[in-house]
Amino acid sequence: MSDCLFCKIRDGHIPAKILAENDHALAFRDLGPQAPTHVLVIPRKHLASLADATPADAPLLGALMLLGQEVAKQEGLTSYRSVINTGAGAGQSVFHLHLHVLGGRELAWPPG
Ligand code: AMP
Repeated sequence: MSDCLFCKIRDGHIPAKILAENDHALAFRDLGPQAPTHVLVIPRKHLASLADATPADAPLLGALMLLGQEVAKQEGLTSYRSVINTGAGAGQSVFHLHLHVLGGRELAWPPG
């Protein structure tokens, strides 16, 4: 999608601090971190949200989770939270599916 912020990051048109990548996904630091470590993991394929994924996207979704796990290890996190906001009512503001990986401080439950 030509007007998608995360597609532009994926394509190198907007700079980001890339931490890891594979065939399906890439991980970069969140610009407005909500924890000492706050990484976003996005699929290379544009999906507006998790609600748009289909069974054919299962390998991509697995790769997203595993890249999040890899980055958490890389960052030295033993406890962390993996979050996908789906829809504006759940706090989604960028409509390209992404996994937040947050850690480095105590995280309250339930989230707000
Ligand atoms: P969400 O609210 O779940 O859609 O998350 C979108 C996230 O993207 C927020 O945590 C923002 O801080 C982050 N964000 C927005 N623009 C950028 C950018 N240019 N580079 C990195 N992260 C960004």
